[in-house]
Amino acid sequence: MVKTEAYSYLEYINRQPKTDIHNHALSSCRFQFLKQNGVNLPNNYKMNGIASLIDFSRKYLTPLENEISTLKLLLEGNFLNCIETGVKIVCPSIDYKICLRTFYGNVQTFISFLQQFQYDNLKILWDLSISRDSFVEHRQLFIDLLQTKFFSGIDLASTENIKPNSTFVEFYKIANDLNMKTKVHAGEMLGSDYIKQCILDFNPKHIQHGISIVKDKEVM
Ligand SMILES: [Zn+2]
Repeated sequence: MVKTEAYSYLEYINRQPKTDIHNHALSSCRFQFLKQNGVNLPNNYKMNGIASLIDFSRKYLTPLENEISTLKLLLEGNFLNCIETGVKIVCPSIDYKICLRTFYGNVQTFISFLQQFQYDNLKILWDLSISRDSFVEHRQLFIDLLQTKFFSGIDLASTENIKPNSTFVEFYKIANDLNMKTKVHAGEMLGSDYIKQCILDFNPKHIQHGISIVKDKEVM
């Protein structure tokens, strides 16, 4: 059989370890796992789009992030899910405000907490994320976290363009200088113009979601 270029490329892809480069660390665990571990969740919550997903997350998952024991449960559930679905490398994205809210801004305690998650068959490369919605001025804390070099990447998430990109440009410059994987959520809610703006403002290595790009061949 003559191997076409496309065939050998597919073979190459199939040989690569299954990798999850876009993993929301605290919202990727199975509903059932939380229930089995004693978390009280509604049985008949109607989830039918991004708005209801965000609502569910705020009502039921965010309170779990404030306690170390339930925060640990959310992360264990996520990593167990990765292992069960054959993922070999995962890049979980965790909001820097967890350091503030759950670890009182203590960088070392936060990093030590994250370091406990180690598995023989799963490599974890952490991303440090910022939620645009809830970002308030903790510039130095974010920079201190970046400079630990514990995180492999950074990410900007939640409601697109709710704050101007200029608020976050400095962090991307530092992260790019540190050769981190710079990621930005763009084009999931807004159009390709916003994706283009993010590429120009942040010089990111990844655009997360980016689905609206299909309507704009030029930006693509
Ligand atoms: Zn996402």
